[in-house]
Amino acid sequence: MATHRAKKRFGQNFLVDDSVIHSLINAIGPQRTDRVLEIGPGLGAMTLPLLARLQQLEVIEIDRDLIARWQARNLEQLIIHQCDALKFDFRNDLSADTNTRPRRLVGNLPYNISTPLIFHILEQAEAVQDMHFMLQKEVVDRLCARCGDRQYGRLAVMVQSRCQTQKLLEIAPESFSPAPKVTSAFVRLEPLSEPMVADTMQSLFAQLVQQAFAQPRKTIANNLREQLSADALRQLDIDPGARPQTISIEQLIRITQQLSMTITE
Ligand code: SAM
Repeated sequence: MATHRAKKRFGQNFLVDDSVIHSLINAIGPQRTDRVLEIGPGLGAMTLPLLARLQQLEVIEIDRDLIARWQARNLEQLIIHQCDALKFDFRNDLSADTNTRPRRLVGNLPYNISTPLIFHILEQAEAVQDMHFMLQKEVVDRLCARCGDRQYGRLAVMVQSRCQTQKLLEIAPESFSPAPKVTSAFVRLEPLSEPMVADTMQSLFAQLVQQAFAQPRKTIANNLREQLSADALRQLDIDPGARPQTISIEQLIRITQQLSMTITE
């Protein structure tokens, strides 16, 4: 088959280190009948070892040249979706498999779309059993940061209010071709059986969290001065002088509940 030239616009940094690939597949732990969907199979670094372990595998790929290569291989176990993962309906059941169990998502994601893609998937979290993604290490550190950590902020709160997050491995740039400029990390995200925030409060919560972390060096009272008073924060058992970095998800939910009551009063 002709050689494929990596396309920057599709974030193509292909995994080329067999021992790393082996560790990733082991961390995913695919079972034969699992309903796995890979985002961005590329040239198959993870796809082929996954196919060796699964009855069936779905892939979503945006690059027509790569799609053509996969179609030419004519692999019976492989279901190919040619589309943009950002627009994919993960609740659908396009596969020939009529089984509608939640999918396990995996992927060495194009870094330029990784955060919007995670948010797109979290909106459909009930259709997902778990996710194993390769991302920039810096993004994984922010996703997995706990209250009080330097990297704790909007991303950690929005994702952890819906998922458990666990950093699994760090991967050096040389494990990819072409090598990216930054270190990568592999992360596991597991949707909570019950999201911490009710659907009806999601949009208010998202606005509140954005506001709370708008100026991380200022106090929580200052960031939220247009939403509620320092006294109102004290009544919720929250120190108005605290930095947003030290405000837990539970406390942010408490503020949101208070605001939703004020709005509906
Ligand atoms: N999985 C391969 C590997 O590990 O070597 C390729 C990983 S490469 C970082 C990202 C892959 O995602 C490429 O195959 C790229 O074409 C594909 N891709 C980029 N943007 C996409 C999108 N919006 N939807 C689906 N696939 C996309």
